[in-house]
Amino acid sequence: MTAERIDGKALAEKVRAEVADDVRAYGGSVCLATILVGDDPASHVYVGKKHDASHEAGIESRDHRFASETPESVILDLLAELDDDDGVDGILVQLPLPAHMDEPKVLHAVDPAKDVDGFHPLNAGLLYLGTPHLVPATPSGVMVMLAEYGVELRGKEAVVVGRSEIVGKPMAMLLLMEHATVTICHSRTADLSEHTRRADILVAAVGRPGLVTPDMVKAGATVIDIGVNRTEAGLVGDVDPAVFEVAGLMTPVPGGVGPMTIAMLLRNTLTAAQHRRSEVALPGS
Ligand code: NAP
Repeated sequence: MTAERIDGKALAEKVRAEVADDVRAYGGSVCLATILVGDDPASHVYVGKKHDASHEAGIESRDHRFASETPESVILDLLAELDDDDGVDGILVQLPLPAHMDEPKVLHAVDPAKDVDGFHPLNAGLLYLGTPHLVPATPSGVMVMLAEYGVELRGKEAVVVGRSEIVGKPMAMLLLMEHATVTICHSRTADLSEHTRRADILVAAVGRPGLVTPDMVKAGATVIDIGVNRTEAGLVGDVDPAVFEVAGLMTPVPGGVGPMTIAMLLRNTLTAAQHRRSEVALPGS
């Protein structure tokens, strides 16, 4: 048996077209501001793609780029300005920040109503309470994929490998909201494959090429590979491609989860604009 491939590229195009339609229907201007510090080539490519995708969807964007040695206070001052700027609906700080910056401090300076990455404690807390507002784009893209491919979650065993604030934890919360029975694994998990073999839905968000091998996967499982690893052989995921022979449904790398992330960022930017302009206070703010 070979698993059906989840076509993230096609689904992302569909979501982007839907967002473009919704931006037109919304009528008002929608604006995303990005901040990039440093010269990491991958970050420059990602930010460039986010601006291209925004323009294509009818979302304006502002591009703030700084040299690596820029003091943290400059970024905090800019964030205060963007937070107060009524013409800006969404703010994204591209990670990683240079080592001299306090990443949580910078991320927490983003107005939660404009926090299109969903990393602010208020948005993380709302998700934890089961009343999400702005949710991190990568895990919310995975949920759209699972829904599109008709994957049943209620009462199913979901195993998430990885517990980062930006991927693993929000992924687990979203699966829990859909009534899956969720296990979160990490680097101290005693017997990883004992857990992964139980999974009806297995999500890998680790950053280790080929960590998940065919013997770790239940036959017919849905396998979502969030990992992006640059190797000599090119871009690879956390899941050994041989798992395609065991799984029922699986995302490829590249062309799986990655394209969905940008599409969901656009969706979050429009949501932030609609919410802010409707002048409804964020729960808990
Ligand atoms: P991260 O912050 O480094 O977290 C990695 C997680 O994996 C940690 O929780 C870590 O456990 C766990 N881990 C490490 N080694 C392990 C092992 N041998 N067995 C089990 N768990 C292990 O990374 P991240 O930001 O969550 O990103 C994860 C991957 O997703 C990366 O490859 C990243 O590039 C990719 N990513 C892709 C997208 C996309 O759009 N496709 C977006 C974001 C991230 P501890 O907590 O115990 O250290």
